[in-house]
Amino acid sequence: MNKVILKPGREKSLKRRHPWVFSGAIAHVEGRPESGETIEVDSADGARLALAAYSPQSQIRARVWTWGDAEIDASFFSRRIADAASARAALHIDEAGDAMRLVHGESDGLPGVVADRYGDTAVMQILSAGPERWREAIADGLYALPGIARVWERSDADVRELEGLEPRSGLARGSPLPGSPVIHEHGLEFRVGIDAGHKTGFYLDQRDNRLLLRKLALGQDVLDCFSYTGGFTINALRGGAKSLLAVDSSALALDMARENAKLNGLPDASFLEADAFKSLRLLRDQGRSFDVIVLDPPKFAPTAAHAERASRAYKDINLFAFKMLRPGGFLMTFSCSGGVSAELFQKIVAGAALDAGVDARIETWLHAAADHPVTLNFPEGEYLKGLLCRVAA
Ligand code: SAH
Repeated sequence: MNKVILKPGREKSLKRRHPWVFSGAIAHVEGRPESGETIEVDSADGARLALAAYSPQSQIRARVWTWGDAEIDASFFSRRIADAASARAALHIDEAGDAMRLVHGESDGLPGVVADRYGDTAVMQILSAGPERWREAIADGLYALPGIARVWERSDADVRELEGLEPRSGLARGSPLPGSPVIHEHGLEFRVGIDAGHKTGFYLDQRDNRLLLRKLALGQDVLDCFSYTGGFTINALRGGAKSLLAVDSSALALDMARENAKLNGLPDASFLEADAFKSLRLLRDQGRSFDVIVLDPPKFAPTAAHAERASRAYKDINLFAFKMLRPGGFLMTFSCSGGVSAELFQKIVAGAALDAGVDARIETWLHAAADHPVTLNFPEGEYLKGLLCRVAA
């Protein structure tokens, strides 16, 4: 087996079971491993640390498959996928509906693999060279899960470019799709654009936070910024919001949000196709106010290198939100930037409240739903950070 040998001292993070080997940690490569090939990772003194997938073009040069000596073959993937499914079963994720994250990358022991279930369709995303090489085995593993009638591939994320991989999407296993699937989540229905939507089509991580918004919404004027296909909007309408304004820059997403409102027999909301930064400023200048505001922006900082610019962007939108909240109002605010820690995010939000001149407290921290596990020693796995804040009455 080909090997990478680490520089002295660079085995530390691997010994703590952090699953990435950065190019700068490698002293030399033994043999000529191909893209995605399984290699051995050795410390400088020759101790075998892990088996990993080799990514010749990426800064993350290898991602660990196993710390032990399990053979990396097709059955390895079907076992890991089956194990991921049984963790979801143990947690009864299906009680919330028929959509869930089936495989959550590193945290399910499958770096570079994401799979979401939408009814009887599994949507698979392959994001790095290792799983690209095992694509057939991964598709088979998903297709073998009970209740799965097809596997649809959405391997078209930008991160594939960093690995030198071409985009690919379409049916990978099973019967053709009868149309975009409609999923059920906490008693609501959502149409999911698995072929054209973001990522695999829907943001399952926010499931329980959307339910929390539903509880807060009765009789309230609600603003949902970065609304996408209406995950939060539809919940607020079901919860009896008095008025709802949803803002997103994507016309396609807003069309689906409108359709989702209809699908659930809910009253129409106001949908505004606009840049949320500009809209927030404009609404504030118009003297508008709200009882509940949701801010669920896209990733501003993929890595820590972008943290400063991202911090300013988070500060801006949270500042405007605080300025428009009525006394006793709630702000549900999120960051899904890997480069912004929970601690930094809290500081940014606290700074925004201070500058807005409001007293606010954190009612509770918000997290991704339980089908989005986080491996210990892989802090990058906890990408979604959220705060529910209440402005003093
Ligand atoms: N809250 C949603 C997910 C939000 S995803 C849910 O629960 O489903 C982020 C959204 O922000 C996307 O729909 C994207 O179109 C939108 N977006 C990105 N940049 C934007 C901008 N500058 N102004 C408004 N919307 C933006």
